[in-house]
Amino acid sequence: MGLGRGMIDNTPRRIVVVGGGITGLTAAYRLAQTVEKDAKLQVDLIESHDRLGGKIVTHRVDGFLVEGGPDTWLARKPEAAALCKELGLDDQIIPTKPGTRGAFVSRRGKLHKLPEGMSGLVPSRIAPLFFSGMLSPLGRLRAAGEWFVRRREAETEESVAGFVRRRWGREAYDYLVEPLVCGIYGGDGDHLSLDAVAPDLKDMEQQHGSVLRGMRHSRRGPENRISQYPTPFISLESGMQELVDAIERPIGDHVRVLLYTDVVGLRRVGAGLALELSNGESITTAAAILATPANIAADLIDPVNADLATNLRTIPFVSNAAVSLGFREAEVPRELNGYGYVVPRREGSATLACSLATSKLPGRAPAGHVLTRVFLGRSGQEIADATPDSELIDLARTELQTTLGVAQKPVFSRVDRYPQGMPQYTIGHLDRVDRIEKLVSETPGVFLAGNSYRGVGISDCIRSGQKAAFAALRYLEGLGA
Ligand SMILES: Cc1cc2nc3c(=O)[nH]c(=O)nc-3n(C[C@H](O)[C@H](O)[C@H](O)COP(=O)(O)OP(=O)(O)OC[C@H]3O[C@@H](n4cnc5c(N)ncnc54)[C@H](O)[C@@H]3O)c2cc1C
Repeated sequence: MGLGRGMIDNTPRRIVVVGGGITGLTAAYRLAQTVEKDAKLQVDLIESHDRLGGKIVTHRVDGFLVEGGPDTWLARKPEAAALCKELGLDDQIIPTKPGTRGAFVSRRGKLHKLPEGMSGLVPSRIAPLFFSGMLSPLGRLRAAGEWFVRRREAETEESVAGFVRRRWGREAYDYLVEPLVCGIYGGDGDHLSLDAVAPDLKDMEQQHGSVLRGMRHSRRGPENRISQYPTPFISLESGMQELVDAIERPIGDHVRVLLYTDVVGLRRVGAGLALELSNGESITTAAAILATPANIAADLIDPVNADLATNLRTIPFVSNAAVSLGFREAEVPRELNGYGYVVPRREGSATLACSLATSKLPGRAPAGHVLTRVFLGRSGQEIADATPDSELIDLARTELQTTLGVAQKPVFSRVDRYPQGMPQYTIGHLDRVDRIEKLVSETPGVFLAGNSYRGVGISDCIRSGQKAAFAALRYLEGLGA
């Protein structure tokens, strides 16, 4: 069949996972559990970089514990904590610092506390919103009026910005919601789909006539007590990398892991697939799980299903960078009791948000030091790709000088970049993903997983990786392989 030089195997009882981020790792872990019982199943995990974990990476620098990518996950989504428990990391799970409360918004160079009762993206209680100094008196009145705004009857999809402006007013969107949405997606709320990003808000409007009313109702119900953790975000004591290492250990014996290797081509060979690797090797397999971002999956899948590739390419991405700076505590004049602050797009700054890692989590800096992370780059202001590290560090330092008054040189700095790192769930995203899933179901042996489709959080990725692994195993069973 002309499979080329370097072909190592013809067995169809094989699954190749492409991409060793948390999604691909979880898929490989679930497959490894099957290999333990069924030695005939062969599993490969192929990763471009020289390490596993993808966007999850923890650096240890001079006593600082620095997260390059995610630093916490949402406690109310159960998959990450469940996997940690399964891997014996139960006692490693930590809540954010109990004394730290809330976050700030930067407006004209000043930091204002976000009103208490911000639940996810939107305000959940009238009183703190009404008495917050964050919005103008008119803006507060308009926002509190959400309670009385009539339910939307139109069937057409709405953007996050459209929904929030309609219900809470323009000022609440610009200064409360937009910076939070942007902090998560790096995106533009006028393009992001409400259905994909915050479907619960739409449901509340439809069921209760108002989101504030819906929030009040859910505070009274059992659904408000879904997490066993005391804070909305949780993490791991030794950093997020601990999760990656804990998955890597048990898969080692059952999965062939190839690092520093790109999958550069994919094509149909009979009923199976052939993957070409950058090391010259070619693998034939019954199934492949593409756990890369959708834009990379598109290029790989093109020769097998061009229609699927075209649909995958319609998911846009935004690049961003995280600049971590460590300071001596005495050199940070302004103390903030909060997790950090977000910067509204209207402020015209390249900064998306600043996280105060040492206020958020314990053990992130040596005694007497403070760790900050400044996130740069958003849709429409994509400076993260082309700007040299030194300029990104200067931008982050200027930001901290303005808001926290830090004039001294940091004791350490580092830049982590995520080129095209954040998928944008723009209007039509759920229809797009439905179409993609239908096309995948018509492409035997190909499975897609990752943060491009049905959730960008760590738990979403774990769920997606597990689902793909089980689907691939069922596919092999169906083949009788
Ligand atoms: C700065 C930042 C902060 C974040 N903070 C949080 C947070 O606090 N909480 C939270 O829940 N989520 C957060 N997220 C989101 C979350 O981290 C990601 O959605 C998640 O880690 C994505 O995992 P993944 O495995 O799907 O993708 P990735 O981590 O991108 O993994 C994909 C892997 O595929 C590999 N790959 C690509 N092409 C090929 C190829 N051709 N051959 C082989 N391998 C290939 C890549 O090298 C990569 O390792 C954050 C994201 C960023 C960028």
